[in-house]
Amino acid sequence: MFDYLVVGAGFAGAVTAERMARCYGKKILLVDRRNHVGGNAYDHYNDDGLLIHRYGPHIFHTNSEQVFQYLSQFTAWRSYEHRVLACVDGKLVPVPINRDTVNTLYNLNLRTDEEVAAFFAERAQSRPTVRTSEDVVVSKVGWDLYQKLFRNYTRKQWGKDPSELDAQVTARIPVRTNRDDRYFTDRFQVMPKHGYTRMFENMLDHPNIKLGLGCDYRDLGENVHYREVIYTGPIDEFFNFRFGELPYRSLRFVHETLAQELLQPVAVVNYPNDHAYTRITEFKHLTGQSHHQTSVVYEYPASEGDPYYPVPTPENGALYKKYAELALQTKRVHFAGRLATYRYYNMDQVVAQALTLVKQLVASPDFVPTKAVAAAAGSGLVPQPAFAR
Ligand code: FAD
Ligand code: UDP
Repeated sequence: MFDYLVVGAGFAGAVTAERMARCYGKKILLVDRRNHVGGNAYDHYNDDGLLIHRYGPHIFHTNSEQVFQYLSQFTAWRSYEHRVLACVDGKLVPVPINRDTVNTLYNLNLRTDEEVAAFFAERAQSRPTVRTSEDVVVSKVGWDLYQKLFRNYTRKQWGKDPSELDAQVTARIPVRTNRDDRYFTDRFQVMPKHGYTRMFENMLDHPNIKLGLGCDYRDLGENVHYREVIYTGPIDEFFNFRFGELPYRSLRFVHETLAQELLQPVAVVNYPNDHAYTRITEFKHLTGQSHHQTSVVYEYPASEGDPYYPVPTPENGALYKKYAELALQTKRVHFAGRLATYRYYNMDQVVAQALTLVKQLVASPDFVPTKAVAAAAGSGLVPQPAFAR
């Protein structure tokens, strides 16, 4: 008899399983229908000995000290600040848009924040409400930069015009007047030193966690018993698509090893207006690996395939709400993660959400810890120098 069946060994499932086992002595059956842990953050060495991210580039960044400290129990880190260039009009320019983006694309020599702000202000279109992903960009930098960098990339990535997508999609990318060319400005910007998979293995290395890989929870026989479920797969699938399918956007990843030291100057180059793929990622920039070859991945957006992104539109939000209400009424099943709560979450947000779910479950009146780990329960942390092994 297990206390919890946890469905999905990505961040949401691994964090909940780890906390419940290590802090509260719960017995966990953790299953994933894939044959590996880590969910979409899974990485591995390819046949050429290069560390690659099977499901596209995963860069860890967070402002949350709690999330950073929590994960630091399971991995050492490598400092890494992510930089992205976009190929526009035959030139490579920084993304997010900054002073150099403007100067390069328009052959200008703007020197101060004020000059760049004035450049944007002259072109920005005022929009009474900033509701869509088009509004976000056009209201800040105007139509031309929007067209050069955002319109076609977004259409390609989502199969929708930015005017159909909620503001949150393009609002992920700031606009800058200075020369800062980092993709993120978070306080913690790091990569797990030995990769994500090793970090997950350290998290799940506990006698109370039984791991079933290559196992869909729906195929578990009647002889497997558990008290509660933590579900991190697609929420519509859990309810057999009762209200219809929730759209998830997929990607086709094409991995290649090249017989050269490096291909591109930064980890990611975006192609907003050319090619069927959106971006090329070169992993050695992320991992710091030394190798005489290099490995890259091309991302081709697709409507069919594994679900990678919830698609944030008003209609999909309304449909998700129906599933979320059903989820609330479903006793002894708890939903967490990007697919189960239909949120365009980064890894750190999923970790925070999972830690919060554990706190909520533990606070419920009928929760009885099998093992009291008082100090850990308070802080959410149990120091585990597992990565040192
Ligand atoms: P997942 O990782 O999707 O895990 C869910 C797991 O559940 C899957 O492994 C699935 O196989 C399993 N599952 C589903 N149904 C069943 C079932 N019936 N039975 C058994 N198992 C099941 N975030 C960042 O912070 N930085 C980035 O740079 C970044 N880049 C990204 C790039 C791409 C291309 C993508 C797609 C995402 C990126 N993310 C990034 C987001 C990040 O991947 C997610 O936030 C995080 O991995 C979500 O974790 P999760 O546990 O919610 O879901
Ligand atoms: N985006 C764009 N052009 C770019 C970079 C991003 O149009 O050069 C838009 C696009 O809609 C994308 C969204 O901003 O889906 C969020 O970008 P991010 O890099 O955060 O996407 P992710 O890494 O989650 O795929």
